[in-house]
Amino acid sequence: MRRLAWAGWRMIAACCLLVCFAAASSADVIVLKNGRRIVAVNVKEAEGKISGETPAGTITVPASMVDRIERDAPGRSPAADLRWGPPRADLSGDAGAAAQPVVRGSAIDFEALQRIRREASNGDAAAVARAADAESAVGAFEFNRGNLDEALIHAERALAFEPAKGTLLLNVAYLRLRRAEYGSALAFLVRARRVAPDSPDVAKLTGWAYYGLNRLPQAVEEWRRSQRLLPDDDVAGALAKAERDLEAERNFREDGSEHFVLRYDGAAAPELARSILRQLEDDFRSVSAALDYSPSEPVAIILYTNRAFADITRAPAWAGAINDGRIRIPVQGLTSVTPALARVLRHELTHSLVGGKTRGRCPVWLQEGVAQWMDGSRLGPAAAASLVSLYDRHEDPSLGSLEGSWMNMPSDFVGTAYAWSLAVVESLVHAGGTSDIERLLDRIASEPTAEPAVRAAVRLDYATLNRFTADYLRSNYSR
Ligand SMILES: [Zn+2]
Repeated sequence: MRRLAWAGWRMIAACCLLVCFAAASSADVIVLKNGRRIVAVNVKEAEGKISGETPAGTITVPASMVDRIERDAPGRSPAADLRWGPPRADLSGDAGAAAQPVVRGSAIDFEALQRIRREASNGDAAAVARAADAESAVGAFEFNRGNLDEALIHAERALAFEPAKGTLLLNVAYLRLRRAEYGSALAFLVRARRVAPDSPDVAKLTGWAYYGLNRLPQAVEEWRRSQRLLPDDDVAGALAKAERDLEAERNFREDGSEHFVLRYDGAAAPELARSILRQLEDDFRSVSAALDYSPSEPVAIILYTNRAFADITRAPAWAGAINDGRIRIPVQGLTSVTPALARVLRHELTHSLVGGKTRGRCPVWLQEGVAQWMDGSRLGPAAAASLVSLYDRHEDPSLGSLEGSWMNMPSDFVGTAYAWSLAVVESLVHAGGTSDIERLLDRIASEPTAEPAVRAAVRLDYATLNRFTADYLRSNYSR
């Protein structure tokens, strides 16, 4: 029994490590008390010091200088991968907005907002400007409390009052980027550039839009321009990564299908690329239907030889594929879509669609649970028994601890994290079907944090969800 359980564990661990480690190349942000933001990977805290790797080398700063560390999370859309703060000029609360009477303490005064909007209807310039400011203030308020949908509605209303105002154009573009609507964001940025040709923010966000559209040369050009206008740590990190990609992909061939853009290194066979696209289109139909989500832009796939994969993605040695907004898959030696590769494709595609549907907000346990469920992984009796005994010893992982990046997770715990995440999703699907998962993801997209979204969608808090999972494992896998 014990030996069997161990074998079951090994199988799950090997399979998961093989198929996934989303966004290993994504980064954390060390925010210093003076406001400076340093983008770094492998951020660690030890002996009163915070250290991390940046494109310029390893940096170490005293913990006393650090305000907070914003942890990145695997399995996100490209928009989320570049989860940058709003443009400097606006949104996070500017002076004009603060002076508005429409936001009082922690609430919006909708009557005041309506009155200000009505006053603008006669076209008086001062009244129109006041209405734009008021809508902007409400947008900033909603943004600051995590309601991106509402923030966009108000940002667009503000822009409707003053369609040629650069900051308002930037706000709308920024919020669209956060929703992974790159093409639409780009249209607003083109207008913003006409108003403010030398704005570093316009170049920064335009680079982001091109990056999301998988147009690397344009992204690099915009970010270089942005750095010339005003050096910025966010841009420095993204630019270094994009330049690395561009260099590596110089000799890549390109192919595409209805929902995908695929680049691959000359060493990979064009027939393999074609069959990968066919497989992906099949998967797209079923996964997209199950999740009731279809991205507005094609999903980017890059095939590497193993060596290039390790060099470019800087992934840990155990990572089999990466999804940092672009799905990166090592295919050295393959000439056709093997069952293992098919599973990787489906798994990583699921990450992309879940990331898009939740606008980059999906906690990692749910990302990995859903991706495994969609790729066909199931626990099996031995792994289920191990998880149940973990639960009985009160050693089950708390879902709160599995929300953020798994990048620095001890490698002997990674298998447990994947297995428990799969168990939770299996139990939810068992109880309510994939439509429950679909509803949950929708909720995640609109709630500022994950646990309240889980509570609203499936009526369980994290602790109860773990008990629910253990009960499911006991009743469905016991022999
Ligand atoms: Zn994964």
